[in-house]
Amino acid sequence: MKIIMLGAPGAGKGTQAQMIAEKYHLPHVSTGDIFRANIKNGTELGREAKGYMDRGVLVPDELTVRILLDRVAQEDCKNGYILDGFPRNIPQAEVLDKELEKLGDKIDVAIDMEVPDESIIKRMMGRRACTACGATYHIENVPPKKEGICDKCGEALILRDDDKEETVKNRLNVYHEQTQPLIDFYTEKGILKTVDGTQDMMDVFKTITDILE
Ligand code: ADP
Ligand code: AMP
Repeated sequence: MKIIMLGAPGAGKGTQAQMIAEKYHLPHVSTGDIFRANIKNGTELGREAKGYMDRGVLVPDELTVRILLDRVAQEDCKNGYILDGFPRNIPQAEVLDKELEKLGDKIDVAIDMEVPDESIIKRMMGRRACTACGATYHIENVPPKKEGICDKCGEALILRDDDKEETVKNRLNVYHEQTQPLIDFYTEKGILKTVDGTQDMMDVFKTITDILE
């Protein structure tokens, strides 16, 4: 099964993708996590991506598409994957379709998580992320068992550089201009499912598993 998670930054894509990954034993592929891992490891890709990420704009397609295609070509993606944060514009979606088509393959479902902009700002201000394993928490809604420490791997949690209010506003603009058109793109392909992302985390998960099953 190949699943795309769509939605504004902070809609809960990563949170749900991680839960889907555990339940269905599929890899969670997040381009944002791949960039952050490269920044942490001081790679050339990380240095290039950071400038764009800190401004809240998209990393150029030439870089992003290559790292995504390399990732999904790996052995663990053979039986499917969950894409979180990719595609983020129509050209990325078209390249992905074309590459899958060459393999006689396709995306099965695109899940659009709807959350109004007003709630997004609150969610992002309270988000805390683990730079080691990519798990996300919220200081009020989804707190870790021990403050500042990841439940899953024990590493320290951080406030992401791009979760500051001004950057979040930029990212929301970029989402509305460049990513939201993907809703029509996948509706036309007949594979879009819309989920109310304002529900409690477990209710969102139940809605998604009902769709997948
Ligand atoms: P995205 O991957 O779409 O950017 P995240 O999964 O990181 O979003 O979620 C953004 C923030 O909102 C995180 O702090 C997360 O813990 C919190 N969150 C996720 N799902 C919910 C929910 N259903 N209700 C309230 N807060 C949520
Ligand atoms: P995310 O972790 O998905 O919120 O992504 C964080 C940042 O990484 C975004 O604001 C972009 O700068 C960059 N990024 C992640 N995925 C993509 C993508 N598919 N295309 C371009 N930039 C991306």
